[in-house]
Amino acid sequence: MAEKRNYQVIIIGGGPAGLTAGIYTARAGLDTLLLEREIIGGQIANVEHLENYPGFPEGIGGFELGQLMQQQAEKYGVKIIYTEATGLELSGGNNKVVKTAEGDFETKAVILTGAAKRRKLGVPGEAEFSGKGVSYCATCDGPLFSDLAVAIAGGGNAAMTEALHLARFASRVTVIHRRDQLRATAILQERAFAEPKINFLWDTGIEKVEGEDFVKLLRLKNFKTGAKSTLEVAGLFVSIGFEPDTAYLKGILALDNEGHIITNNEMETAVPGIFVAGDTRSKLARQVVTAAGDGATAAISAERFLTEQFGK
Ligand code: NAP
Repeated sequence: MAEKRNYQVIIIGGGPAGLTAGIYTARAGLDTLLLEREIIGGQIANVEHLENYPGFPEGIGGFELGQLMQQQAEKYGVKIIYTEATGLELSGGNNKVVKTAEGDFETKAVILTGAAKRRKLGVPGEAEFSGKGVSYCATCDGPLFSDLAVAIAGGGNAAMTEALHLARFASRVTVIHRRDQLRATAILQERAFAEPKINFLWDTGIEKVEGEDFVKLLRLKNFKTGAKSTLEVAGLFVSIGFEPDTAYLKGILALDNEGHIITNNEMETAVPGIFVAGDTRSKLARQVVTAAGDGATAAISAERFLTEQFGK
């Protein structure tokens, strides 16, 4: 049977924002397609243990939570296709065309979520040693560094969560942070400061990653004193946040200085029928629970738009 090409709603991204949006649009009786380019769950798929998503007092694995959200979305009829959305065309009147490697899909309402990519340090050696000691996923690669010294770049919630995870395997974990204060929330700071295997280098930047077959040495600079130093490590985990991957939307949607998409409180963009939810949006809080909240709001707004403009 030929693939169905027309849906009432197309959701781009299968993280908490997109999956929640799907649960709501499908339950509203809207024929919904969700496109995911990598792995269901998005950023949380690699989070070993989430402690702040309400309803799970003992915490829940990020991958498991993603799977549960997927089950819930599919139960109500969301169709999921694993492919990357590579473009969005608005030329055909009310119709929007989502371009993918699996061909074009048409809809009147698009909910954009999940357009984020990992921020890179952008220093010499980082790309060269990626997969050879430089990693962007402590949950995936941590066990490879059993009894070895590693460093982690970053001072946010993700960096502290990952430093604590790495301390279970590594002999020493050095947190290298560009300021003298962590961005991470208090409970994670307290745990990291209390872990004897974790030590901190403040006001410090990584200038170069060196090694032979694998990483051996980091060249560092103290931003306050200008002093240069080196640190011998077998691994470098880079955990310095995410940046929006929205270049393909330039000229279609309004973006802030960092490339996040600007919406109103109803998740509407300036283009009728295009809604945005989750970390891709210009906003303060980037948490699983706020992503889910955005997804629900975007779905309700999409339903209202389809009802008002087209009687659904
Ligand atoms: P984040 O909160 O944006 O923190 C990024 C960290 O990397 C900051 O400490 C930042 O330094 C540093 N950084 C950014 N660019 C850098 C660069 N070019 N060179 C060196 N350091 C750089 O990112 P995240 O920790 O990945 O978290 C992403 C989102 O998920 C956040 O909203 C976070 O709250 C959420 N999250 C929450 C939890 C939790 O609540 N348990 C766990 C994981 C993630 P500055 O501090 O100087 O800006």
